[in-house]
Amino acid sequence: MEIKEKISIIVPCYNERECLEIFLEAVLAETAALPVDLELIFVDDGSTDGSLEIMRKLSQEHSQVGFLALSRNFGKEAALLAGLQAATGDFVVAMDADLQHPPELLPQMYFAIVNEKFDSVAARRIDRKGKAPLRSFFARRFYKLISKATNGEILQGATDFRMMTRQVVDAVLSLTEYNRFTKGIFNWVGFSTKWIEYQNVPRVGGRTKWGFWKLFLYSVDGIVSFSAKPLAISSFFGIIFCFVAFLFAIFIVVRWLMFGDPVQGWASTICIILFVGGVQLFSVGILGQYLAKSYLEAKGRPVYIVKERSE
Ligand code: UDP
Ligand code: MG
Repeated sequence: MEIKEKISIIVPCYNERECLEIFLEAVLAETAALPVDLELIFVDDGSTDGSLEIMRKLSQEHSQVGFLALSRNFGKEAALLAGLQAATGDFVVAMDADLQHPPELLPQMYFAIVNEKFDSVAARRIDRKGKAPLRSFFARRFYKLISKATNGEILQGATDFRMMTRQVVDAVLSLTEYNRFTKGIFNWVGFSTKWIEYQNVPRVGGRTKWGFWKLFLYSVDGIVSFSAKPLAISSFFGIIFCFVAFLFAIFIVVRWLMFGDPVQGWASTICIILFVGGVQLFSVGILGQYLAKSYLEAKGRPVYIVKERSE
């Protein structure tokens, strides 16, 4: 008998009880016609809504389904890593449980790898219909900023939905950093990537796990993890201020020569002190971000802890 190749689909799940079954049905339907074996791994990222029970049930009902339960909520990046490490397939797909990553794209991704010889195929959302306008505005700013910070490697609307060959997965796993910004890592490892575009779809059930604040922190994290450019900001301000101070010194000397030295300018002095103080604190804050990252890296803690896994 010919040995078939295997696709592993890894799905980070945090409180996705309402989505799991619909998701599984959809994926099974879309991949049924592909000439491959399927392995589906749900990674329960410390859900508190009983997602795990459903995973246990699904893995008993379907031989292709397995699960991995983390001991608490470690965040999506950690769950993704856990899934990638558990996957055994020749091709590995990372996708969300809420059907916002359309399973219809799976065959297209598979054929792009097998026939067109791409190393990975990733999905890109081309509109944000159904997302809050303010969020979309900030999301666009974030993509602009991060693509500047990483020299244009992260595309607008890039998602974590992608299929990779075993070679790419092994490359991704060879990065052992603690602060994992997956979008950045996928780009960093290189290889050829085909981008497939799709229209945004709303969640099938449940709620998004990303509030505004969480997304904001995630953006800061992503930028700090993948670029040292913010550090240059303080040097930039430093140089500008020296220059301004120099001009100001000339101005004061000239004014003194022409008009003498009546004491005044209290308000402007305070403004300058506050402004420069603010910029200094801001710069120290940036420095602190990097220091905190290094601190966490230096501790060398595991990225996640597994509590239970299917046989
Ligand atoms: N997720 C996770 N851990 C978290 C937050 C989210 O595993 O701490 C999973 C979530 O279950 C989903 C995916 O990451 O499968 C994307 O999350 P969500 O759909 O809430 O994000 P959005 O699509 O709104 O950006
Ligand atoms: Mg979603």
